[in-house]
Amino acid sequence: MRWEELSSDQFVEAVRACDGVCIVALSVVERHGHHLPLGTDTIQGRGMLSRIAAREPVIEFPDYIFTQIPEARHLPGTISIDGELLIRLLDNVCREIARNGCKKVVLLNAHGGNFGLLAWYNMLQLYTPKDYVVYIVSPFPAMGALTLPWSRDDDGHAGPGETSMMLALRPDLVDMTRIPTDGEGRAQGRLDALRAAGVQTGIWWYADHPTHYAGDAAHGSAAAGEQILDAIADSIAQAVRAIKADDAARSLQDAFFAAAQAPR
Ligand SMILES: [Zn+2]
Repeated sequence: MRWEELSSDQFVEAVRACDGVCIVALSVVERHGHHLPLGTDTIQGRGMLSRIAAREPVIEFPDYIFTQIPEARHLPGTISIDGELLIRLLDNVCREIARNGCKKVVLLNAHGGNFGLLAWYNMLQLYTPKDYVVYIVSPFPAMGALTLPWSRDDDGHAGPGETSMMLALRPDLVDMTRIPTDGEGRAQGRLDALRAAGVQTGIWWYADHPTHYAGDAAHGSAAAGEQILDAIADSIAQAVRAIKADDAARSLQDAFFAAAQAPR
């Protein structure tokens, strides 16, 4: 059930029917090669949510596009919000979801670059007592488990996986004639010496993929996109069932906060 399509009168009953589970697809607006739109992650996130909701009742939060993307600030059309504001906004949104009765807030990572933001936001939950639990789920393991008609080396950002999902969801926004044929999707390896020495820097993604294109999108197809989206929806719906059945996380969280008031 899409939050913004419910009337206020319907909302309370909808929350009950969904066992208080609201799911937010965390996407971003950034370049996806030459052939996909800036809102690729947003459209994919929306597509995942509707398929998950068809399998297991959940409140689908409206499009959420303000997440981690400083690495694309050099590219036209990127919306990169200040880091501190990203965390405050996400926390504010989670509190609003809970205030409206959804005490199980599920964050679905619809943008691969969110790994740092979500790992940190997860641990930030332990600072302040709350009457809700934030659960984080990822579509990437389900995608990784599939056998698809391209090699792992050919997939990546705006590669055949994302291209396939877009061909399934919004083929009108995909221009397959714009896919590079000159190897633009290969990693440039400009920081390989540091990487080999176990050293990380913030400029690592720009070093390898300055045009935000990785892999060979030409392998993409709508059929593969349907397969990926269904596998993701199956796996996240399963996770939602586990979340609905869970009461341990909330009671452990309560016990932790009680103990954290005065550690002894
Ligand atoms: Zn993407």
